[in-house]
Amino acid sequence: MYICVDFSEINIMKTIQVKDLEFSISIPEAQILEKVDAIAARLTKDLDGKNPLFLCVLNGSFMFVSDLLKRVNIPSEVCFVKYSSYQGTQTTGKVKQLMGLTQSIEGRCVVIVEDIVDTGITMTHLLDDLKKQNPAELHVCTLLMKPEKLEVELDVEYCAMEIPNDFIVGYGLDYDGFGRNLPDIYTLNENRYSKMKNIVLFGAPGSGKGTQSDRLVAKYNYQHISTGDVLRAEIKNGTELGKTAQAYIEKGQLLPDELMVEMLAKVYDSFGKCEGVIFDGFPRTIPQAEALKIMLSNRGTDVTEMIDLDVPEEELMTRLINRGKISGRADDNEETIKKRLAVYHEQTSPLKIWYQEDGKYNHINGLGDMETIFNDICAVLEK
Ligand code: AMP
Repeated sequence: MYICVDFSEINIMKTIQVKDLEFSISIPEAQILEKVDAIAARLTKDLDGKNPLFLCVLNGSFMFVSDLLKRVNIPSEVCFVKYSSYQGTQTTGKVKQLMGLTQSIEGRCVVIVEDIVDTGITMTHLLDDLKKQNPAELHVCTLLMKPEKLEVELDVEYCAMEIPNDFIVGYGLDYDGFGRNLPDIYTLNENRYSKMKNIVLFGAPGSGKGTQSDRLVAKYNYQHISTGDVLRAEIKNGTELGKTAQAYIEKGQLLPDELMVEMLAKVYDSFGKCEGVIFDGFPRTIPQAEALKIMLSNRGTDVTEMIDLDVPEEELMTRLINRGKISGRADDNEETIKKRLAVYHEQTSPLKIWYQEDGKYNHINGLGDMETIFNDICAVLEK
């Protein structure tokens, strides 16, 4: 059974600043504790005589666990585990254990305690992992759940509160490491990022990302980040980054992810208020996509859509060789083009599946009339 929080009851609009973002109180401590009381009473009743082992998933659950277990009045044990929060859960189908179980759970009644279940993917992998260790019973207990975000079927027996799909901090939950110690839960106020669309324009070299980006910028009030253009400007200006970039670009290789992620965040934050941002040429690897997700989530937002401009290989070759005749780009020669396409297939195209799993993928036929392709992209942006 789930209990819904009635947000209309909340009339104290306490506002706080956590790092650069402003949040307003959405669930006061007293209301949280009422829900914790109710869940604790159910656990006490249901698990009496079973000596449950509470397996707390750090970091976010520490405050919930502390209040919860003070109210569970039956003999029980507690242990703490930690998994990498996002990395790997979508791509490999596994959660990475950073701090593991130190005792056997075979034959035990185990209750996983989480602060929040959102997509449910991490919890599903965790349940699969634990089931292999043959516990007698396996229950899920969470303080919060975002039903709108749930992507998998998951049986959450004990859920204190269901909440809307907003970015929250407090009572164990953080924004970029801060806010965990707040006794109440706060929701992010609208900020300059929250209404912006973040469009990943994806495709192999020569698929038309640059051309279509220019048209999108002309039609909508969007900003455009082309990582290739930024790097070429750095090379032209003879900066340190430019010097590093030149060697990679001439060989048709990708620059190290850390360099690209750092550069991207700087450009993104330099934009003023706008309707949206087109990411052209980024991400190009799975770690870059993960870093982009984290970067946007730290600003209370996410990728809105990923648009895959799909163009057959022979056409890409022809287009790039023709472009090379006029572009003067050091990497638009046959040998480097072949390398760039190989790098695309190896390192970049796996992102199609990554974005499918993230529910953001849109396929666009990138072959044919430019106007039709543009209209197809606009249809995705306006859906
Ligand atoms: P582009 O203009 O998008 O075709 O990019 C030209 C070159 O810049 C690429 O072949 C890479 O060497 C480098 N580059 C651009 N974007 C990235 C990225 N996201 N990650 C790594 N290298 C990149």
